[in-house]
Amino acid sequence: MRKKVIKIYLIFIFCIQFLKLLHSQDINREICITVDDLPYITKYFKDIKTGQYITDRLLTAFRKYGVTALGSVNSGKLITNGNPDSEKINILNKWLDSEMTLANHTYAHKNYNRLFFSEFKNDITDGEMYLKDILKGKNKELKYFRHPHLYRGETKEKADSLQSFLDSLGYIIAPVSIDNSDYIFSWAYEKALSLNNDSLAKRIGTDYISYMGEVLDYYESQSINLLGYNIKHTLLTHANLLNANFIEELLAMYISKGYKFISIEEALEDRSYTELKDEFYKKSGISWLHRWAYTMGKRGDFFKGEPEVPVYISEFIK
Ligand SMILES: [Zn+2]
Repeated sequence: MRKKVIKIYLIFIFCIQFLKLLHSQDINREICITVDDLPYITKYFKDIKTGQYITDRLLTAFRKYGVTALGSVNSGKLITNGNPDSEKINILNKWLDSEMTLANHTYAHKNYNRLFFSEFKNDITDGEMYLKDILKGKNKELKYFRHPHLYRGETKEKADSLQSFLDSLGYIIAPVSIDNSDYIFSWAYEKALSLNNDSLAKRIGTDYISYMGEVLDYYESQSINLLGYNIKHTLLTHANLLNANFIEELLAMYISKGYKFISIEEALEDRSYTELKDEFYKKSGISWLHRWAYTMGKRGDFFKGEPEVPVYISEFIK
């Protein structure tokens, strides 16, 4: 009798696992990698050699894994001592030569929450400086815009003014479904390297990959809970030293979770990006999934469970 119960129990467990497997294979898993603050962003290692190293590492991995990334440019960073810097411009040319897409991320990455629309709009048009010509040199056009800090306007009036202006310039917004704190990990990582603490740097890198895996799981379930399906994801990252050194591990992690890499054009075929309303008029720069969730009336519990940066990392950069 006891043996029979155990047998039934094991068959039951097997069926549950089988159903789970079937269900997990049902989910569409696609992700567009976007990389902000080009030509590169560092806290401790600001020399051009580091910038070239970051670029080469990222682009080599993107080519190897078949990633068509979107790079968002702050064209103010192409200036050295008041003049356009050919080495920094060359970094953008390398992105284009590797078949990546470039977006306007404004000239100086200003904080829209602290400015009037009339002040902020100049940072958008100034952001086209050099960038349009660089793209033209490769027979490409400037189409995409990525909001600095993901700030879209903390009042309806400011948000509408910004969106109308971007529309009038013909921009397509590059949204973010997966927000995260890669910049905090990179800050700590660079600090550890600057102190020659290689073992700490390695630990930060390893923890970064685990964290990004948890972030992916979180936004995957947020998408399914909110929309009833897994959106074609748009991931925010930055052109920093941590991503340069861990990009292969990061891309391999997405593949191990069943993801396929897609371009921004392919991601934007997802109807949610065009159909859903964003009426989140607050100062925070958050995921589009959370903007829509807030607009649909979700509060409190819905947003819970977002993975956090380990305490030892936030303490280390204080
Ligand atoms: Zn940025």
